[in-house]
Order: sequence, then C-alpha cells, then structure tokens
Amino acid sequence: MLNKFSETIFYMPNQDENDRPTLGLVCGDQYSLIIDCGNSTQHAKEFILEIEKLNVPPVKYAVITHAHWDHFLGMNEFDATIIVNSQTNELLKTWQSYTFDDSSLQTYARTKLMSAKCIEIIQEEIPNRDSFKLNSPQIIFEKTLTLDLGNKICVLEKINSTHSDDATIIYIPDEKVLFLGDCVYGTTTNSLFQYKQPLLLPMIEDIQKYNAEAFLLGHESICDLEEMTTFWRELKAASEAVESSSIEDAIESFKLENNRTPNDDELFFIKAFVNNQIIRSQ
Ligand SMILES: [Zn+2]
Repeated sequence: MLNKFSETIFYMPNQDENDRPTLGLVCGDQYSLIIDCGNSTQHAKEFILEIEKLNVPPVKYAVITHAHWDHFLGMNEFDATIIVNSQTNELLKTWQSYTFDDSSLQTYARTKLMSAKCIEIIQEEIPNRDSFKLNSPQIIFEKTLTLDLGNKICVLEKINSTHSDDATIIYIPDEKVLFLGDCVYGTTTNSLFQYKQPLLLPMIEDIQKYNAEAFLLGHESICDLEEMTTFWRELKAASEAVESSSIEDAIESFKLENNRTPNDDELFFIKAFVNNQIIRSQ
C-alpha cells in the first residue's frame, strides 16, 4: 500500500528493518515522476506493483536524491528517464563499474567499498546478481531543473547538505510539498557520527526558501511544518553551543544560552557537532 498525501502525491514509507528509504510518486495530467529508486530489485518491484494499482499516468521520470546505495540500487527496474545532479552522476559511475557476484562482493566488503548491510540486501534482494550491472542516468543537471508532468510542476535543486555533498531536493509548488531525501541528516566518518557545522545554516536557508508545508524524509515518515521548525530550532541551538571539541564546554554554553539543560535530541546533535569539530581538527 502506498500512503496517499493528496490526489497527486503518494509515498511508500521507509522500512528501517531492511534499510529501505521512503519512495515518492508525483502525478501530473500526462506523466508521473518517482523520487528515489529503492535499495534493491525487490524493493523497486514492490513499489512498481503498488503504483500499477493506482491507475496513474505512466512513470516517465525517476529522480535519485543522492548516491547512497539504498536510494538507487533498484533503478534498473524502472522504465523511466533517470535524473541526477552532476555530482551524483560522478559517484554513480563507480557503482556502474561494480560486479555483484559473491567473490566481487567479498572484495568490496574487505576493502570497505560496501557496508555489510548493503551486501546482505544485495544478496537477498537482487536476483541474477552474476550478470547485474547498474544502468546510467539519462538526464544530468548542475544546479536546478524544472519538470512539468502536465499541470504539475516539479522543481529539482542541488543544495547544501549536512548528509552528503550531492543532495537533490524536489519541490512541488502547488502542493507545497518538499521531498528532502536524506539531506537534513548527519553522516558517519571514520566510525564517528557527525553533523557538518559549517553547512547547517546554508542548508536551512536553501530549504526554507521554499514555501513548503509538508516534508518527506528518506528515513522518517512525513513531517509537517511544526515538526520541521522544531527540528531546525534544536539543531541551531545545539550548533550554537559547540565551539570546540569539548562536550562539557558545549553543554555549559547551551545551559547559559537557553536557561535549561539540552533535551535528548539536542544532546544527540551537540555530540554530532562536537564530533565534527574533532574531525575538522585532525
Ligand atoms: Zn543517504
């Protein structure tokens, strides 16, 4: 079952237990567009079956929000024009060179080119792996791209992101819906979870210039404006408290500024900004 946001926007919710991100479907009068292609052949096939039940215009385009495996390994299943920004395209070229037989996967595991979870999903959910090769995207854009699906405008933009350097977001102006992929999350570097502090405010600015009221995130259900506003407020408060790699100093600074102790989310963000200070000072 796809969740219905409106008559023209649907999504398949994220499934954390098998690393499946949220997949989106936007329908115009003539064509439909999907957002992210799934983490495997199996994930993509399940999404396609659900779309077929809806009797919507054909899926002409598929946008990949960023080059993390769980968002694109299902792309070969879609009979659609694949769209990515130029940086995602460069990152996907590496994946197009990969082979997916067991001995290749063992090599990628050893050299850490693929995570253990990624390999597990590939082995379970991509049949005919020995001949599997990832397709190439067909439309590559630099900064922005606007599509008209038939009385349904979709604005794609590559933005600053704390999660990856190649983040694309998709805005649907007439519904005030913004598909964010994973862009607002942090990232893990050398086993440390960090939030890239210098990119936080530029990212928030890039996102807030859209007049969005509903937000779809890669590994969250849908968020409304109030939830996003809280998220930004906590992230900003945490970031403002962190000026060095000392967690104690950051918590003290937070208490002085806010006249209270940080809540669990804020503490999580403070630690991630401190980790960013540690990584940047190395
Ligand atoms: Zn990601």
